[in-house]
Amino acid sequence: MLLKLRKNLSLTDRDALMALCRDLGFVPRAVTGASGGVELLDLEPSDAGELDAARTLTVLGDQYAVASIVDAGQPRERFARTPNQPDSTVRVGEAIFGGGHMSLIAGPCSVDEDDVLIDIARRAKAAGATVLRGGVHKPRTSPYSFQGLGRDGLALLGRVREEVGIAVVTEVLEPSDIEATREVSDMLQIGSRNMINTPLLRAAGRAGMPVLLKRGMTATSKEFLLAAEYLLDAGCGDVVLCERGIRGFDSATRNVLDLGTVAHLKGATHLPVIVDPSHAAGRADLIRPLARAGVAVGADGLIVEVHSNPARAKSDADQAISPDDFADIARDTAALCAALGKTLVLPKSTRLAPGGASSSPDNEAVAAPHPELP
Ligand code: PEP
Ligand code: MN
Repeated sequence: MLLKLRKNLSLTDRDALMALCRDLGFVPRAVTGASGGVELLDLEPSDAGELDAARTLTVLGDQYAVASIVDAGQPRERFARTPNQPDSTVRVGEAIFGGGHMSLIAGPCSVDEDDVLIDIARRAKAAGATVLRGGVHKPRTSPYSFQGLGRDGLALLGRVREEVGIAVVTEVLEPSDIEATREVSDMLQIGSRNMINTPLLRAAGRAGMPVLLKRGMTATSKEFLLAAEYLLDAGCGDVVLCERGIRGFDSATRNVLDLGTVAHLKGATHLPVIVDPSHAAGRADLIRPLARAGVAVGADGLIVEVHSNPARAKSDADQAISPDDFADIARDTAALCAALGKTLVLPKSTRLAPGGASSSPDNEAVAAPHPELP
């Protein structure tokens, strides 16, 4: 890292800066021969332990003695996209997120009875979902709301996964949930309310499976990325970020879908980023337009709450949509992918047709055909 120092710096200020640099874990060296009376300080990381790159930049940038940071060096966080670094891709069952691939996750907010879940899973898959979502450990705002089916729900998820042949993502609320959840799922979900739960992030990061990390509802994009860093640092190589809306002041929608941040994240990180229009909108009628917007802004996938009888969903009924409405979203996504030069990855047995999805014996994951655009 190279610092440009303020002109005519007093020796006291200069010495104080050198001391601070050492405290931050650097060996500072004055660069000789810099022209125009400008003094440059080259900072080499010392062997004395880990640097926190983000904090370092902030602290140094705030110093009176520092005119500017000329070269911040390579970012050290694993989430950061280095110049020209391609997207990371994350595979979950048949789904591929990132690297020009889009995949769809669909299912109920919370896992319901046997026959309901299997019906949703079959219809979501036929409509184009490669991953089934469904919570069994529900992080509810009120302790009196339905808390999920717990271990019984896990067993059910496992059965439906086998019978329908679809990958499963489900939320874990605490480290002790992880072991049993691993048995029946293909991806762990860390929800908005737990984005800052660092023991859970570390434990999930060690689980040896992909993790879907949802943005905290009041988290900045940097805090979100640093939460992902906990997963990466714990050894998880397959992190997918999910924008699900942040708190706003307007109760017309449940949250504010932060599309600007999705676009920002696509540049700031190589990790795939997906959009959850359901928790952003909180209203079934807004899911389709928000899903379209998410795809258009560059998301690598969508996660949508789908229920075969939305009014009877055990949680988040107001935002649940039917499998038929989900099929419309899949068709929209196919059209947008075609326009954007991306590939929508469908279940091997699913083809999207203009009037609805249908099964095909073809075993290829395909980019959906470009439908007629007006
Ligand atoms: C969920 O996806 O089931 C959920 C609870 O979402 P969030 O964590 O985004 O509120
Ligand atoms: Mn929900």
